[in-house]
Amino acid sequence: MSKEKLADIKKDFSQWYQDVVYEAELVDQAPVRGCFVIRPYGTAIWENIQNILDARIKATGHENASFPLFIPQSFIAKEAEHVEGFAPELAIVTHAGGKELEEPLVVRPTSETIIHFMFAKWIKSWRDLPLKINHWANVVRWEMRLRAFIRTTEFFWQEGHTAHATEQEAQEEVLTMLQEYVNLAQNYLAIPVIKGLKSESEKFPGAEKTYTFEALMPDGRAVQMGTSHLLSQNFAKAFEIQFQNKEGKMALPYLTSWGATTRLIGAMVMTHGDQKGLVLPPKVAPIQVVIIPILRKNADNSLTLEVVDVLKEKLNFARVVVDKDETKSPGAKFYKWELKGVPVRIEIGPRDIENKVAIVADRLGETKESIALDNIEHYVKTLLDSVQTKMFERAKERLEANWHKKEKLADFGKEMQKSGGFYQTGWCRDPECEKELKKHQAFTRCLLEEKTLAKCFHCDKDSVSDVLVAKSY
Ligand SMILES: [Zn+2]
Repeated sequence: MSKEKLADIKKDFSQWYQDVVYEAELVDQAPVRGCFVIRPYGTAIWENIQNILDARIKATGHENASFPLFIPQSFIAKEAEHVEGFAPELAIVTHAGGKELEEPLVVRPTSETIIHFMFAKWIKSWRDLPLKINHWANVVRWEMRLRAFIRTTEFFWQEGHTAHATEQEAQEEVLTMLQEYVNLAQNYLAIPVIKGLKSESEKFPGAEKTYTFEALMPDGRAVQMGTSHLLSQNFAKAFEIQFQNKEGKMALPYLTSWGATTRLIGAMVMTHGDQKGLVLPPKVAPIQVVIIPILRKNADNSLTLEVVDVLKEKLNFARVVVDKDETKSPGAKFYKWELKGVPVRIEIGPRDIENKVAIVADRLGETKESIALDNIEHYVKTLLDSVQTKMFERAKERLEANWHKKEKLADFGKEMQKSGGFYQTGWCRDPECEKELKKHQAFTRCLLEEKTLAKCFHCDKDSVSDVLVAKSY
């Protein structure tokens, strides 16, 4: 460990986050500014998330494909709105093979354009629809403000791209995948989220509608966890995607795209971590159980090590690691595995073996009990489930405690700027009123369906519906 202690989570959350992602060995710095190396422990978390999401993507009728990293610059320019949103973030290759390229290549900021180019080739008739493709990839957006996992120049994600004969079908697709994301966030990452539409100014530039799911971090700032878009018909027009419909006429398909990134890991670290380090939800933790044999110095530890191996075998339903390192004290091992957020720890020494028990503790600090070895499988199974559930409940309680309903920005703006939190308020939907939020470093996060407040948070006009407002990452 390079650092003695993590920064105080209550006093300097930002520094704590920075410390924990490095100290727990999730990431390391790369030589290129803005890029991060995701180390094996971080990659193992991402792989678990990928496996869960990939299975659901396939179960909902999508197929995986791979598209090139390089996109002709003219492709990006084809969709004007798209360019406006991306222009400063693009990384462009002008030279290759020892000479200047005839047409510069963009390192993909998203794959919409290249995939739509291919869709135009693949979609000819209504029989080719729906076309439902997913792509696991990395993308590049030249970021200025950086934070590991949350905002990085290169990041990993999946992007789904689909084409449908009718707008209704496309809309259903957008909502289906949004719901899959909500399921992933809440039931696996144990992060409560709010879903809803983005405002016109906050939506993806190439979209007709952007749905988001948002989480609130312990420092009171919101994280956009992922998005699902109903794309504008402009994409189909620009890339000349046309199909012959059942009536024999040429028509434009309705397109969607949806993506979730390695940012989910950052949100998970922030949501659950504590002063000791990471706290990982069992369902995505690379190591669910760590067994620490209490080894005696200069003594025969063979019986203890034997019992520990049998115990590991018994717990083969879980991802288990045995820490047999003889050079470290049990205390140092506890520190290490707590920092890494392993949900369940089992300690077992010679005296426990005599009594046919082991000490089982959870990472939440709620239980530490002596459990009969005969009963330990059942106990650990139940404990992993209950840790998963408790983590979600804790996060949900915090979300509810930091959710405020207020009428006027003039009254709640300063408080929001200082303490953060979700603010539910009314909005006339005028972007001019929305701009007022920036004075308090806040943005609209998503539109809510209900209307509980009569007036706009800023002007005297009627509210169209409630909106959720917060500072954000
Ligand atoms: Zn207004």
